[in-house]
Amino acid sequence: MTNIPVLDGHNDTLLKLRFPERGEERNFFERSDVGHIDLPRAREGGFGGGFFACYVRNPENDGWTEESALTLTKTGYEVADAPPLDPVYARSKADELVGVLFDLEAESEDELEVVRTAREIESCLSEGVLAAILHFEGAENLGPDPGALEDLYEVGLRSLGLVWSRPNAYAHGVPFRFPSPSDTGPGLTDAGKELVRECNRLGVLLDLSHLNERGFWDVASITETPLVATHSNAHALCPTSRNLTDSQLDAIRDSDGMVGVNFAVSFLRGDGREEVDTPLEDIVSHVDYLVERVGIERVGFGSDFDGAKVPREIGDASGLPRLISAMRGYDAAALRKLSHGNWVRVLHETWRR
Ligand SMILES: [Zn+2]
Repeated sequence: MTNIPVLDGHNDTLLKLRFPERGEERNFFERSDVGHIDLPRAREGGFGGGFFACYVRNPENDGWTEESALTLTKTGYEVADAPPLDPVYARSKADELVGVLFDLEAESEDELEVVRTAREIESCLSEGVLAAILHFEGAENLGPDPGALEDLYEVGLRSLGLVWSRPNAYAHGVPFRFPSPSDTGPGLTDAGKELVRECNRLGVLLDLSHLNERGFWDVASITETPLVATHSNAHALCPTSRNLTDSQLDAIRDSDGMVGVNFAVSFLRGDGREEVDTPLEDIVSHVDYLVERVGIERVGFGSDFDGAKVPREIGDASGLPRLISAMRGYDAAALRKLSHGNWVRVLHETWRR
């Protein structure tokens, strides 16, 4: 039996290809044991493509990676707030990551395509071409002038997260905390509200993952498109600042939006621990909870491959069939929706093409 293709809400593969840790260099077209996604492992697991994030690290003292900034408490952790990025720096690094994606497309001999319409995604999925959606994780990546969004749209940008987990000129991201509410700071700035309208005008998906709660509600009150969190889970099952509360989920349901279930173990586990010996059932529990809350039409995957620690049983993109087999409560039609159909639907509605 061939695998059901998975269209996925989030990966950090471009970052890992362009800026690998020492000894973790790899070629996307050769099978590797490093990281989570390369073309051979994608084919093996039925990874049909998804959102390829351009994420720019803080140049130094990154609040997330500096161990000194992580405070462990008896019941959880708190990571010091990452400082804002210089938008000129952010844009130059983001451009390097965009370059990596288009180089992959050029070198792939038609095996990877940067997609700009929902119809292009459908034909990629049916022909076995890897469909790559260009996504910016943090609007500081646009550079100092938000007007750059229109030029980047022409290049192929189709998805924008207003923030990563740090503040910028548009909004405030949630710092990584457990246990914690996601209500961690102020809402959108005026520039942020303007950027939401501009995304609506162009047909760019607005990603709400990493946005704090007040920012979320500001977007919800302005946007005319479905509310989408590409890689977040249920706060009720894992109370990290990065997950969505029931009232946020209800708003996503009411807007006919979408949640991509994140495989990061620390956003899955009830104890929030970064432990790869986390059963696949923990992912299934989040899928079940979200389906119950927002409906079978509004849940998909947002793996965070190459950006997070995932359960050992999945391992990497080649392990996706093991997850699909663990989802015993869903028939073939439901599995097609969860694996790719819902993403295609919401992108069609958002991009309007
Ligand atoms: Zn992320």
